[in-house]
Amino acid sequence: MKITDILDNKKLSLSFEVFPPKSDTAFDSVKNATEEIAKLSPSFMSVTYGAGGGTSAYTLKIAENIDKKYGVPTVAHLTCVSSTKETVRSKIEEIKASGIQNIMALRGDLTPELEKTDRTKWAYKNAIDLIYDIKSIDDNFCIGGACYPEIHPESENQTEDIRHLKEKVDAGCSFLTTQMFFDNNLLYNFLYKIRQAGITVPVIPGIMPITNANQVDRAVKLSSSFVPQRFKSLVDKFGHSPEAMKQAGIAYATDQIIDLFANGITNVHIYTMNKPEVAEAIKNNLSDILGKL
Ligand code: FAD
Repeated sequence: MKITDILDNKKLSLSFEVFPPKSDTAFDSVKNATEEIAKLSPSFMSVTYGAGGGTSAYTLKIAENIDKKYGVPTVAHLTCVSSTKETVRSKIEEIKASGIQNIMALRGDLTPELEKTDRTKWAYKNAIDLIYDIKSIDDNFCIGGACYPEIHPESENQTEDIRHLKEKVDAGCSFLTTQMFFDNNLLYNFLYKIRQAGITVPVIPGIMPITNANQVDRAVKLSSSFVPQRFKSLVDKFGHSPEAMKQAGIAYATDQIIDLFANGITNVHIYTMNKPEVAEAIKNNLSDILGKL
């Protein structure tokens, strides 16, 4: 099923992101975790590609399993910047053969090794190049793209970033998912600007529940997200206690989601970090709101 056919315009619905195993030996435990998450009946699930150290070979296996065994529509992520045309095209063909209809088309992060090489020789420079390839193989895929309420770290300014985002959407993105953010006002401001720029596709905010203190530094480094004082105080107070930090992080993420819904946003994507208990706790916190109002 295509993501654009699933998105709810009235009621709050949650979707979940998971990542593939880092090694063959971790496959079963990751598969189990993603199955527990699928049992929570999210509107859809996305499976990252190589991000967070996951093995790209398993993205499709995990996505197919969720889709076929639990009937949860899935999005297979795909990155392109460090790959050859042949590799990427064969991945697209594999996704097509699996019956999965949704691809998150991503450039991928630039590694220091890649940055040392001649850019003009790269098979793919940006996500837009991947989108063209996907469409040339099958115009029927539902393609998602990434967007950055706080600007992509490589962009000089937001105007440039939004100009490239508009090009990406015009090339064939049917929906966008945002980078994590901890201050909803940044998202509202971003949404206003992209709508002004003529980007009309659905934008699904990505919420990262921070459930341990170490995750804060890692997440912020990766995303360059602004950390509000309110959130810093919470980490200062509870960071030393894993249980308390988890509860506080889940409460903070829940609060963000409630505020998003109160401000008219109905589809929210949760970066679960493969933690079923976190996804479940958020779902339970919203039990009188989810799908009801
Ligand atoms: P692009 O859209 O190519 O943008 C990258 C930069 O280039 C931006 O600064 C943009 O403004 C600029 N740009 C875009 N188009 C052009 C152009 N035509 N000319 C010049 N400049 C241009 N990484 C993984 O490895 N695996 C994953 O599964 C994964 N999933 C993600 C999911 C989400 C929701 C998000 C937000 C990120 C994800 N990432 C993942 C991280 C992502 O790969 C990085 O953020 C990467 O640095 C940029 O990817 P992109 O697709 O946004 O790139």
